[in-house]
Amino acid sequence: MPAGKYKRTPAIRAKMSKAHKGKKLTKEHAEKIRQSNIGRKHSKESIKNMSDGRKGFKHLAESKLKISNANKGKKRTKEFIRKLKESRLGENNPNWKDGATDSNKLIRNSPQYKVWRKKCLSRDNFVCQKTGVSGGELIVHHINNFADFPELRFKPSNGITLCRKAHYEFHKIYGKKNNAHEQLLEFLNAYNTIMNQIKRQPCEIFSRVNGYLRPVNNWNDAKQQEFSDRKTFKVKK
Ligand SMILES: [Zn+2]
Repeated sequence: MPAGKYKRTPAIRAKMSKAHKGKKLTKEHAEKIRQSNIGRKHSKESIKNMSDGRKGFKHLAESKLKISNANKGKKRTKEFIRKLKESRLGENNPNWKDGATDSNKLIRNSPQYKVWRKKCLSRDNFVCQKTGVSGGELIVHHINNFADFPELRFKPSNGITLCRKAHYEFHKIYGKKNNAHEQLLEFLNAYNTIMNQIKRQPCEIFSRVNGYLRPVNNWNDAKQQEFSDRKTFKVKK
């Protein structure tokens, strides 16, 4: 092919993509690409394109849980955390509203708010409604969120007691805007399912093959397959 600039039409791009599918870069090649990309910045236009492409996209609650679990235990360097915090302070925070923090703080310290909180806590017996843990650091969560539903701020029916961890988890999954009752229900159900999975203990099933009761796990594959096909019949006496 003669040297020069070639336009990558969509058809050509598709061809290239197909040709490269499944191919793995060698470590050196990947490192070269990484090095050459260091310090490179996306143009405003391509940032906008990427952002537009993701608009309206929402993870399912289940995949959010998966992501959250996959990230558990991952450690970030102190330096990274410091940078992250700084990049989200005050006006740089996506939730920044002029002076809103001050007025919210005032409301949260108001007697009305404290009464509401106490009412919710005692109704829930000071038990996290998600984990069943009592006492500890309990948070009364606004089911329809505080900022978007000012008329519901002090309705006990709009509050639910959660432990700190559960509360954190909720907002990690659903964010802090436009929270609704359905989210809470979904959250409680999803969580319960996971808790049940954790609580379920592996147990050994013994059954008969050729007369003796033996752990099914020790059977050979064919016998185990046969066991899974077995049906239970009720015998009328
Ligand atoms: Zn909350």
